[in-house]
Amino acid sequence: MTETESPVARRRTFAIISHPDAGKTTLTEKLLLFGGAIQLAGEVKAKRSGTQTRSDWMGIERERGISVVTSVMTFEYGDCVFNLLDTPGHEDFSEDTYRTLTAVDSAVMVIDAAKGIEARTRKLFEVCRLRDIPIVTFINKMDRESRDPFELLDEIEKTLALDTAPMTWPIGRGRSFAGTYDLKTNMVRRLDHDEQPIQASGPDDDAVLGLLPEHERAAWLDEIMLAQEAARPFDLQAFREGHLSPVYFGSALRNFGVRDLIDALAAFAPSPRGQQAAGRLVEATEPRMTGFVFKIQANMDPNHRDRIAFIRVCSGKLTRGMKAKLVRTGKSLGINTPQFFFARNRALAEEAYAGDVVGLPNHGTLRIGDTLTEGEDIVFRGVPSFAPEILRRIKLQDAMKAKKLRDALQQLAEEGVVQLFIPNDGSGAMVGVVGALQLDVLAVRLQAEYGLPIAYEQTRFSLCRWISSEDKVEMEKFMEAHNSSIARDLDGAPVFMAPNTFQLRYDEERWPKIVFSDVKDYQ
Ligand code: GDP
Repeated sequence: MTETESPVARRRTFAIISHPDAGKTTLTEKLLLFGGAIQLAGEVKAKRSGTQTRSDWMGIERERGISVVTSVMTFEYGDCVFNLLDTPGHEDFSEDTYRTLTAVDSAVMVIDAAKGIEARTRKLFEVCRLRDIPIVTFINKMDRESRDPFELLDEIEKTLALDTAPMTWPIGRGRSFAGTYDLKTNMVRRLDHDEQPIQASGPDDDAVLGLLPEHERAAWLDEIMLAQEAARPFDLQAFREGHLSPVYFGSALRNFGVRDLIDALAAFAPSPRGQQAAGRLVEATEPRMTGFVFKIQANMDPNHRDRIAFIRVCSGKLTRGMKAKLVRTGKSLGINTPQFFFARNRALAEEAYAGDVVGLPNHGTLRIGDTLTEGEDIVFRGVPSFAPEILRRIKLQDAMKAKKLRDALQQLAEEGVVQLFIPNDGSGAMVGVVGALQLDVLAVRLQAEYGLPIAYEQTRFSLCRWISSEDKVEMEKFMEAHNSSIARDLDGAPVFMAPNTFQLRYDEERWPKIVFSDVKDYQ
């Protein structure tokens, strides 16, 4: 066994994907409680004391009560080290949310049992699918009135084209929710006695039926027999390939079913996977350190205008004091103060392995998608861009500062604050985001860091797609015919902007040789 093999095998790096209000925060707290990472739900403590400084965040986020600091939560449970990467949601939903999913090896999909698959869940799932990330499903809020479990499974299969394998089955729902039945082992977990499962002889065991009101028993027996007969069996390989999701039922609020979930992550979720770089696959167990930047966070400490670049370590061992090569520039970078981030604290990272996330203080040297290595010239195809859903034109109040604005926008776009688009027709720069808070953050940072007050203007465009074609002539024709709807992104790649999906579809149909893409790989 090589030095890095065993720490790698123990690690599970994952995120939770869900629609707002499905229970992500509640579940996160419960998971952390299992890991002993926090003492009280909601109160997160770091592992090492002494070296921590309390982090703070930008005024704008503080005003809104949004925690942007919780980037990664590390906890141990059983033999595993879990890195739970936070996917910002609600108002702070942003491209970071998508980008975080490029740094995980698996995801937990939380579904509200009364609502089923909701819009945000579907979007985040699609991002996971780009890399066939294995998904464990947690159907939450079973203690409330909920939909028929078969119907929920069917909805997952149909809307996400993802096979499901129920591992447990709810015993009752809503007010009669009494626990779950393990379809394979016949073990019964009772609500409020989660830690003491009982072995049943079958679903018709009195110990099971006795948990339900009498008038519900017959219908439930029919239901679970059907589930046992008709449900798809769990298949580890199909799960690892991202085609099949094991499904657990529970209630995060009642801390029920969370144990099943964490056990499932330990047993089935992959340890850090090999990461595809241009040219070759980098295995997590390789001895030399590699990693990529998937997120840059500014102003975590208002006293120091610091920016932290978050690196996902992909192989080898990152040690404090080592030198790494920043492949994009070829320059050497001293890793002197790598940090682990906890909910509101940070601590110096002495060493980190594949699957771990460390923050590097950074003054504009690192940008999203950058690869760090111990010398090898490889570039991870890690972090794509996603087509923005909000487009705005920037209105500069002082026209004399146009050049300064351009430079500032370039820098902030490289950090991934917003996406920048320069229209071909010479009109003013546009920015694109997936979450409205990104626009506020940009305006605040332009003012605070560059002294540039700006305003936003609506544009007639509401969406955009990267365009490409194997047929150069056709591409030129298209660009010419749509000159006022074409812009260039940060890397100069052409983008087509449309006022609505109707127009986009129309052009897609009329120009079959043009590829319209809503995702663009960085490199
Ligand atoms: P998030 O927006 O996905 O982070 O959702 P939260 O964890 O904040 O939960 C949203 C609301 O649902 C809160 O009021 C929670 O108390 C509630 N909630 C979460 N899980 C459960 C559950 O299992 N049962 C019930 N009844 N309520 C829940």
